[in-house]
Amino acid sequence: MRRSAKALIASLAAFAALAFSGSARADGNLTVYCSVQEEWCQLMVNEFQKATGITVAMTRKSSGETYAQVKAEAANPKGDIWWGGTGDPHLQAAEEGLTEAYDSPMLAKLHEWAVKQHETAQKRTVGIYLGALGFGYNTELLEQKKLEAPKCWADLIKPEFKGEVQVANPNSSGTAYTFVATLVQIMGEDEAFKYLKALAENINQYTKSGAAPAQAAARGETLIGIAFQHDIVTPTITSNAPIKNVSPCEGTGFEIGSMSIIKGAPNGENAKKWYDWALTPEAQKLGAQANSYQNPSNKEAPIPEQAPKMADIKLIEYDFAKFGSSAERKRLLGRWDKEIGAK
Ligand code: PLP
Repeated sequence: MRRSAKALIASLAAFAALAFSGSARADGNLTVYCSVQEEWCQLMVNEFQKATGITVAMTRKSSGETYAQVKAEAANPKGDIWWGGTGDPHLQAAEEGLTEAYDSPMLAKLHEWAVKQHETAQKRTVGIYLGALGFGYNTELLEQKKLEAPKCWADLIKPEFKGEVQVANPNSSGTAYTFVATLVQIMGEDEAFKYLKALAENINQYTKSGAAPAQAAARGETLIGIAFQHDIVTPTITSNAPIKNVSPCEGTGFEIGSMSIIKGAPNGENAKKWYDWALTPEAQKLGAQANSYQNPSNKEAPIPEQAPKMADIKLIEYDFAKFGSSAERKRLLGRWDKEIGAK
């Protein structure tokens, strides 16, 4: 009798221990470094918490800034997953061994471009969305100033646009790095830097975040903002702002927005849960709900009807392997700092 009571207590204790460890595994914590717009980051976090019971701490920073943070913390990683932001710094982090290889069961559901990004990074990053670069101008300001609408990258260096153009700093912003790499691919490097020097005469501010110039143009704080086209259409959709989106006549570059698990992540298993979930159509639909109109990487996730149509845009063959390589990104940013940023 006494022995069976003891056995019962022992098995109850074992059950309680199992139940506890089970719930600890299902819940637990996750630290997300998010490089898209705050509104989208927040919606993703809320929905993931609801779906899994995992408590998420999230920090929003631009792509280049997040890369720098992941690198600075490499000896003692604090983040678990880096979600969103342009692909080049994710590829650089992959090459530098700052992120972890992972084969998600969701890979088979993704567009080829997203899988190719995974292969280029030796499985250390994956594509989550696609978006093309462009610029937007404020239609009311253009009319007031009686200027002709710009159509091409070449138009932005015209003297009549002195002080009228805004773009981000390519060190902090993935958007602005995509801009520099795009010009290099269209014009050749020396011509691209000549162009950037001429453009500097027209720049009123190098912002930290890539989407900021589009928002400033929408508010009439700058005539022209260089940004991703999905960021340019957002203010018109949300507040009917007078900003016109332009696909530059010479052609333009694009981004494969990416996601990577941080090497040595304190909550590595939960990072994989986020990774798999973020590749589902349900999670990818949240972008449009948060007014972010990229093309999602899951083939079953709908392309938002407001998204700029990729088929109508003259896209260059952006060389992600080259411009996302550690040596090239470092070198181009170094040259930009010396020849443009320091002036
Ligand atoms: N926000 C959106 C909606 C984006 O598509 C991107 C690019 O991936 C970013 C932010 C990244 O911006 P940043 O240029 O500030 O790194």
